[in-house]
Amino acid sequence: MSARIALTIDTEHPDFPCTPSNLPAILDALGAAGARATFFIQGRWASSNPAMARKIAEDGHTIGNHSKSHAPMDMLTDAGIAASLSEAEQMIEQAGGVNPRPWFRCPYGLGQDDPRVLAAIERAGYRHVSWTIDPYDWEPGRTPADLIERVLDGHAREGDGGIALMHSWPDVTAAALPELIERLRRAGAGLVGVEQLG
Ligand SMILES: [Zn+2]
Repeated sequence: MSARIALTIDTEHPDFPCTPSNLPAILDALGAAGARATFFIQGRWASSNPAMARKIAEDGHTIGNHSKSHAPMDMLTDAGIAASLSEAEQMIEQAGGVNPRPWFRCPYGLGQDDPRVLAAIERAGYRHVSWTIDPYDWEPGRTPADLIERVLDGHAREGDGGIALMHSWPDVTAAALPELIERLRRAGAGLVGVEQLG
């Protein structure tokens, strides 16, 4: 039996200048390999990039909500959290044609250990999705080989049901993905959406 891993890609405005073709390259690599991933989409990004949001959905990947403006959820009131999630949901649905419920990921992971924040997320109709494998793909100086090694090591450590965190914009992520998918599969991994982890 293969051990499942969910590749998750936080899809948002970049922290650093990077190549605009990175997300298309990520989608091409997933498509060429017939691999499924989960994209947590920032609402404002979806509104600015409707064609890409629609392409992610049309390619059949799982779509989640990554807040409206990428503000840390633990800095917002309960009403602020509810507004961020519902406004992002409308933006993602309008751009991508898919409702992201019930999947949500806190920007920076901030608030994911706070019962108040988690309760507000649940009241909005969402389940928070954390991660267990972090290759720090956003960090300057990271190489494709680093990313591949960290995800493979994490998969070996976690066994079935690991969740790897990556981002839509770093050059290194787009560069690493074709080999990463191939090596995960060679290691016996089944690439699944987060909804398949149960
Ligand atoms: Zn993010």
